[in-house]
Amino acid sequence: HEAPKAEHYLSVLEEIAAGIRTGRGRSADYIPALACVDPDRFGMAVADLDGGVCGVGEWRTPFSTQSITKVFALALVLAHEGAELWDHVGREPSGNPFNSLVQLEYENGIPRNPFINAGALVVTDRLQTATGDASADLLAFLRAESGNPELRFDLEVAASEAAHGDRNAALAHFIASYGHIRQPIPPLLDHYFRQCSIEMDCADLALATGFLARHGVRADGSRLLSRSEAKQINAVMMTCGTYDAAGDFAYRVGLPGKSGVGGGIVAVVPNRCTVCVWSPGLDARGNSVAGVDALDAFTTLTGLSVF
Ligand code: GLN
Repeated sequence: HEAPKAEHYLSVLEEIAAGIRTGRGRSADYIPALACVDPDRFGMAVADLDGGVCGVGEWRTPFSTQSITKVFALALVLAHEGAELWDHVGREPSGNPFNSLVQLEYENGIPRNPFINAGALVVTDRLQTATGDASADLLAFLRAESGNPELRFDLEVAASEAAHGDRNAALAHFIASYGHIRQPIPPLLDHYFRQCSIEMDCADLALATGFLARHGVRADGSRLLSRSEAKQINAVMMTCGTYDAAGDFAYRVGLPGKSGVGGGIVAVVPNRCTVCVWSPGLDARGNSVAGVDALDAFTTLTGLSVF
């Protein structure tokens, strides 16, 4: 690949880390196991297209990936069934919080997009049908793409979320009433909570997102998605990846991105590199405050937005 190696970005990352203000926002507290994570923590990594990676701060500290996994589940389902998926989940920004129910009733139980919880439940249901073990399949994919065989579920986080999972259960039951979920809800929720509980560090996540910068090609050189499918996922990340803050994220960062309530955000510079940042202090919409600041600084300092 012609694109620069990961080390090329190290001085920019160091500059960002030196200037970052952490400690703003609050760690997710609706999942009790995440509430105790210190909002001051910060790490950031860049991966190049050839598997090189470098980072600053706590870039090798595993954290809870949460909704970032929705990107990988979507990719696997698109690889299995292609465009049929879009009969069951839309691709419009919701303008509503990630766990909102309100639009489902007006839209025949079809979630607005695959990155809000409603849409992610449909995607995980379809991955389960395709593979027979959705969360294990996802974990295997992430281990392969990150090159880290140690990746694991954090079953304590999964159990903590399950114990407070009424909202996701309500979403799943409501969608099922329209026929867009095919399996019983309890095992679907188990897979979804396990999926969200996968622990990864910034290096793992930047590497695992690489196929989206390589137009659908996996770490081992095999093709997961067509060029056009990879473009579709990047587009949906741009418009929906940070929920009701996607407009502001596009305005400030200008890259396809996906956040999670563990405080991580991944971003893709197609044909060039991927970036992952982690800082657990969240804003009211569930996005990392210092994480968005850091990505804003990254595209400002490097000029690398898609615009
Ligand atoms: N597991 C979380 C939930 O379903 C994921 C949400 C998120 O990261 N935005 O609420």
